[in-house]
Amino acid sequence: MSEIKKNSMIEREVLILGSGPAGLTAALYAARADLSPILLTGMVLHGQASTTDVIENYPGFPDGIGGSELGLLFQTQAERFGAEIVMDQAVSVDLKKRPFVVNTYSGTYTAKSLIISTGAAPKKLNVPGEKEFTGRGVSYCGTCDGWFFKDKDIIVVGGGDSAIEEGLFLTRFAKTVTIVHRRDKLRAGAILQNRAFENQKISFVWDAVVSEILGEDGVQAVRIINTKTDEERVISTDGIFIFIGHKPNAEMFAGQLELDETGYIKINRFMETSVPGVFAAGEIADPTFRQVITSAGMGAAAGIQATRYLENLENEA
Ligand code: NAP
Repeated sequence: MSEIKKNSMIEREVLILGSGPAGLTAALYAARADLSPILLTGMVLHGQASTTDVIENYPGFPDGIGGSELGLLFQTQAERFGAEIVMDQAVSVDLKKRPFVVNTYSGTYTAKSLIISTGAAPKKLNVPGEKEFTGRGVSYCGTCDGWFFKDKDIIVVGGGDSAIEEGLFLTRFAKTVTIVHRRDKLRAGAILQNRAFENQKISFVWDAVVSEILGEDGVQAVRIINTKTDEERVISTDGIFIFIGHKPNAEMFAGQLELDETGYIKINRFMETSVPGVFAAGEIADPTFRQVITSAGMGAAAGIQATRYLENLENEA
C-alpha cells in the first residue's frame, strides 16, 4: 500500500476508483498491460465483499473463502504486476477536462482514462432512532459488529440474501435472531432460506416493517407495523441489523455521467460510460447481479477496454 504526500499532484494513464473486486481486477489487468495504474481504495478497503464472513460462491475456492482474505489476495495479485494501491478517497471529479481530474482528501490526480468502481452503500430505513443509535445498537454489518452481541437478542431487517446470510452469521453470537421482513416470502436463495428455517435461534416476523428504533443509551426495542393489518407492536431487542439493499456511490458523478433512474452509472457492454475514456465496473454500474464474480468480470473488461482506449489515443496522436 502506497502513501501519497498531502497536496500532491499525480498524473497517470489509468486511475481506478474503489478497491472492491471490480477495482482490484481492473487494476490487475491495467497493470499487466504495463500501464502502472493507481487505485484509490475509497473508505471501505476491499469493498463490501470484504465484510462478508465467508464467500461460498466465488469459483476456485470450493470450501469458501473469507471476504477480507479474498480482498487481500486480489490486492496482492494486482500489486505483483505493478498496480499502486493508495489509501485515499476521491471527493470530486472533473470529467470535462482532459486529462480527467480527480480531487481527493490528499491531493489531485489526473488521468487519461478513469475506471469507476466505487460500489454501493447499505440503504437506510430512514426511521426515527436509526441515525441516533448507529454504532450503539444499529448496524449494517454482521461481520463487523456481531461480536458485540454475544448472548443478546437481535433483530435483522430484510428478506434478501444479505439479510439471511448475515442473520445466520449472527446466530454464532446472539441468543436469538428475529428476522423482520415486509412480505411473507423471502427473496433470498433457496440454500440460505433452508439454513435459516432449520436454525433454532432464528425466528421470523412476516409482513412487518420497522417504524421506529427505541432506546436510551443504546437500542432497547423497535416499533413494528404489520403491513396487512396496520397493527403496531413493540419488540424488545439489544440490536438491529439492517440489510435492505444498497445505494450506488455515484453522487460525485451526477451531472457529468449518465445515471439511470435509480442512480447507477449507465454503461454499455464495453463498460463505457457516457464520457469516452471513463469506464465503470462492479456494483456502481450493476443493479442486477452484484456478485463478487460478476464484479471481478466487469473489472477485467474495464481494464481491457481502458487499455484499448489508450492505445487508440496514442495511434491518433
Ligand atoms: P436485495 O436482494 O435487494 O434484498 C433487499 C431486501 O430488503 C428485500 O427482501 C426487500 O424486500 C427488503 N427491503 C428493501 N427495502 C426495504 C425497506 N425500506 N424496508 C424493509 N425491507 C426492505 O438486497 P441484498 O440482500 O443486499 O442483496 C443484494 C445483491 O447481492 C443480490 O443480488 C443478492 O443476490 C446478492 N448477494 C448474494 C449473496 C450470496 O450469493 N451469498 C449474499 C449477499 C448478497 P422485498 O423482498 O419485499 O423486496
